[in-house]
Amino acid sequence: MARIVVVGGGIAGTAAALALHKAGHRPVVHEAHPDSDGDIGAFMTLASNGMRALAGFDAARAVAGAGFDVTRMSVLDAAGTELASVPLGEHDRPLTRYRCLRRAELAAVLRAEARRRGIVLRHAARLTGVTETDRAVTARFADGSTATGDLLVGADGLHSTVRAWLDPDGPGPAYAGQRVFYGYSDTVPRPAAAPGLITMVRGSAAAFGHLVPPPAAPTGSPASPDRRSARRSATAPHPPSGAPGWRSCCAPTAPPARTSWRPRATTSWSPTPSTCRPEAAGAAAARC
Ligand SMILES: Cc1cc2nc3c(=O)[nH]c(=O)nc-3n(C[C@H](O)[C@H](O)[C@H](O)COP(=O)(O)OP(=O)(O)OC[C@H]3O[C@@H](n4cnc5c(N)ncnc54)[C@H](O)[C@@H]3O)c2cc1C
Repeated sequence: MARIVVVGGGIAGTAAALALHKAGHRPVVHEAHPDSDGDIGAFMTLASNGMRALAGFDAARAVAGAGFDVTRMSVLDAAGTELASVPLGEHDRPLTRYRCLRRAELAAVLRAEARRRGIVLRHAARLTGVTETDRAVTARFADGSTATGDLLVGADGLHSTVRAWLDPDGPGPAYAGQRVFYGYSDTVPRPAAAPGLITMVRGSAAAFGHLVPPPAAPTGSPASPDRRSARRSATAPHPPSGAPGWRSCCAPTAPPARTSWRPRATTSWSPTPSTCRPEAAGAAAARC
C-alpha cells in the first residue's frame, strides 16, 4: 500500500484519490482553499465516458444522484435551421448516461464519497515546494506543514505548482482566444424543446448552447434519483439586488453581442457573478 500525496482537491484530485484508494493505496488530498463548499463555477456536462470512468472506482451511482440526464443534442445554424439531432451517449444505461450538473455538485459528491471511504481531505494546505529523495517525496505547504509519501500526484489545476516543479522550463498555460460564459435562470420561458435536450447554436464566430432540465419526478422515483437537484440547477437565485447582471457582468470583456443569435434564452439570464467568468471548457456554455 503506497502513501500518496495528492495536491489539489478539485474534481481531478478527488477522483484520483478515489481511484487510488480503490486500488488499495492510501491517498491524502491536500487542497489550498480553506473550504470547498461554495457554489463555485457553473455547470458542466459529463459524457458517458466520464461516467464510465467514475464507475471504474464505484462513484457513478453517487454522481448519477446529482443533476439530470442529458439524452439528445440538436445543432442549429445561426438562422435556427437544425443541422443535426443526435442521441447522446449510453441513454439506455442509467448509470452512464450523459449528465448535466453543477460543478460544485460534482465536486461535493466526490468529496462526500471520499470522506465516506475514509480518505483524508486536508483544506488550507497550499503546496509551496517539493523535495524528492530516492525513497520518498515530501510536499511543503504554506502553513509550514509537510507531507511525505511514496508518490505525489499533481492535480492542482491550470497554474499547477507541481507542474512548475517537475518542469520549470516548460510552457505555462496560454490564452487560447476563447471566452466561455455560463449562467442559469428560472425566469426564461421554458422552450418547447424536450427536457434533457442540449441545443447548440453554431454561428460563424461564436456558439450558444442551452438545455432544460426535466420536470421534477415524484420523490423517491428510482428512475430519477435526484431530480430535486436538477430543479435547483434550474432555479438558481438571482444575484442580490445591485449585483452585476448578465450583460453588465459580460460587458467589460465580451465583444459586442451578435444580433444573429436566437435571443430566446439570452434576454433575461442573470448568472451569479461567480458564474460569469471565462472558463476553458463546457458544452452547455455561451460564448459572448
Ligand atoms: C473555480 C472553478 C470553476 C469552474 N467552473 C467550471 C464550470 O462551470 N464548467 C466547466 O465545464 N468547467 C469548470 N471549471 C473547470 C473544471 O472544473 C476543470 O477544468 C476540471 O474539473 C479539471 O479539474 P481539476 O481538478 O484538474 O482542476 P481544478 O478544478 O482547477 O482544481 C484544482 C484544485 O487544486 C487546488 N490548488 C491549486 N493550487 C494548489 C496548491 N498550490 N496547493 C494545493 N491545492 C492547490 C485548487 O484550489 C483547486 O481546488 C471550473 C474550474 C474552477 C477552478
